[in-house]
Amino acid sequence: MKAIVVHEFGGPEVLKLEDVPTPKPAAGQALVRIHAAGVNPYDTYMRAGTYAQKPPLPYTPGSDGAGVIEAVGAGVKRVKRGDRVYTAKTLSGAYAQYALVLEEHVHLLPAKIDFRQGAGVWVPYGTAYHALYHAAQAHASETVLVHGASGGVGSAAIQMGRAMGLTVLGTAGTPKGLELARREGAHQVFDHRRAGYQDEVLRATDNRGVDVILEMLANVNLAHDTKLLANRGRVIVIGNRGEVTINPRELMARRASIRGFTLWGITPAEETDIHAGVIAGLENGTLRPVVGKELPLAEAARAHAEILQPGAAGKLVLIC
Ligand code: NAP
Repeated sequence: MKAIVVHEFGGPEVLKLEDVPTPKPAAGQALVRIHAAGVNPYDTYMRAGTYAQKPPLPYTPGSDGAGVIEAVGAGVKRVKRGDRVYTAKTLSGAYAQYALVLEEHVHLLPAKIDFRQGAGVWVPYGTAYHALYHAAQAHASETVLVHGASGGVGSAAIQMGRAMGLTVLGTAGTPKGLELARREGAHQVFDHRRAGYQDEVLRATDNRGVDVILEMLANVNLAHDTKLLANRGRVIVIGNRGEVTINPRELMARRASIRGFTLWGITPAEETDIHAGVIAGLENGTLRPVVGKELPLAEAARAHAEILQPGAAGKLVLIC
C-alpha cells in the first residue's frame, strides 16, 4: 500500500510517500481502507518533534480517517467487513491507504456523511464537544465566543453551539473565513485581524461579556479574553503556540476561570459520551463537517505547510 512515512523529525519535507506492506489486523483490531485522512495542526507539531507525544521512528501520521472496514481480527464484534467508519486514533497512521485501528476506535459513519467529511470528525468535533459540554459545561441561553471559528475545530464548535441553543459569536481573519462562520450558524462574526474588534464583541453582548470563550490561539488572545468575560465566564484553552502574560485581577473581578485540556487526556467515559453526541448530531444534520480543501496523499507535505498558514476555511483532507 501507499503510505506517508516519517523517518526523521523535521519540516514538511520529511513526509515521504512510500510503498509499505499492508498491515494485518490482530485480535481486537480492524483494518480500514482509508479513503480520506484529516490533517490536524498537531500532526505538524508531532512531525516536527516538538509535540508532547513523540512517536517512535519511522511512523505514519494521522489519527483521523474515514473509509471502509477491509478485515477484522479475532474477537471484533462492533464492526464488520464492508462497514463505513471513521477513526479516532489509529495504530499504524491514517495518512495511508490502509490503517490498523483498535476496535474501540472505529465508529460507524452516518450515511449522509461522506468520507472526506468523515476524515474531519474525530479531532475537530471531539474537541468542540469536550470544550463545550465537559470543560465549559455550557448551557442554552449562554453566549459563546468561538475565537478562531473558520478552521476545523471552530466550524464544528459553531454548529454545535447553535444546536445547543447558545448565542454564538465567531471570529476569523479573512472574508472567506468570516463567511464560513456566518454560514455555519454564527449569530455575529468579527475579524480577529482588525484592531479593536474586541470592543465590537463586547458591544454585541451589551457590554455584559461572553459566558464562554473557546480559544484557538491563547498566546495571542488570553490577556484580552479575560476582559471579554461575563461574571462566572470561562475561557477554554484549545490552541496555544507560546507564552502569554495575563492580569489575574480580571478573573477575580468576574469570578471567572481559565481551563485547558488536550483531547489525549480525556477519560474513556468522556470519549464514549463524545462519540454518542457527535454521531447523533451527524445523523440529525446539525453537525456537518466542512471540507475546505482536498489534496492527494502524495501532497501531505504541502498540506502540512498550508494548515499552519492564516486563512482557514474548514478542514484540509488528504485523499488516499
Ligand atoms: P485550523 O483548522 O488550522 O484553524 C486555525 C484557526 O485559528 C482558524 O480559525 C484561524 O483563523 C484561527 N486563528 C488564527 N489567528 C487567530 C487569532 N489571532 N485569534 C483567534 N484565532 C485565530 O486548526 P484547528 O484544527 O481548528 O485547531 C485550532 C487550534 O487548536 C490549533 O492550534 C490546534 O493545534 C488546537 N487543537 C487543540 C486540541 C486539544 O486537544 N487541545 C484539539 C484540536 C486542536 P483564520 O485562519 O481565519 O485567521
